[in-house]
Amino acid sequence: MRILMFGPPGSGKGTYASRLSVKLNAPHISTGDLVRDEIKKQTDLGKRISDYSSRGQLVPDKTICELLQKRISQPDCKSGFILDGFPRTIPQAQELEKISSTDLIINLDVPDDVIIERLSTRLTCKSCGAIYNERSLKPRTEGKCDKCHGQLYKREDDQPKVIQERLNVYRNQTQPLLEYYQKTGQIRNVSNKEAGLPPDKVVQEILKIIENES
Ligand SMILES: [Zn+2]
Repeated sequence: MRILMFGPPGSGKGTYASRLSVKLNAPHISTGDLVRDEIKKQTDLGKRISDYSSRGQLVPDKTICELLQKRISQPDCKSGFILDGFPRTIPQAQELEKISSTDLIINLDVPDDVIIERLSTRLTCKSCGAIYNERSLKPRTEGKCDKCHGQLYKREDDQPKVIQERLNVYRNQTQPLLEYYQKTGQIRNVSNKEAGLPPDKVVQEILKIIENES
């Protein structure tokens, strides 16, 4: 099944997508990660992408799609994938349609105050980037990453005012996109109105939706 994950920054989208990926045995594709990998590997495409960034320009949708196409043509994507972070705009959705069809859209519906609460208690690992939460996803040892024992810290941009601004940008951008996809009948809303809800509860709910569709 080809699944798109929509959700505001801080909705837990990435966490849910990676857990779903394990349960469904389908790769979790984050366009952010793809871009970073490609730059790291210094491929031709990666070099083009860093050129855009160093000129302070946005990477064109076509280039991201080129990257995405390369990824989804790999054998592990044959029976499906979970796409996270793309599309974010209608032109991106149209580019995506040229390279892949979509079966289901999971739209995480999380109120702003819940996100602000969650992000302002978020902890990030300095070494590997793993995400924890002071309330809902505590590390085994306080202040230390479970995976690499790196130091956990609060990100500068995880402050309520900055978060609110990011949420406003997201809502303005995504509203038209949701309307665009409404006609496909593929959108399933998953609401999460509690800041401390364990990720697995939400994942279970999404799995139920997927079961009903297949
Ligand atoms: Zn770590």
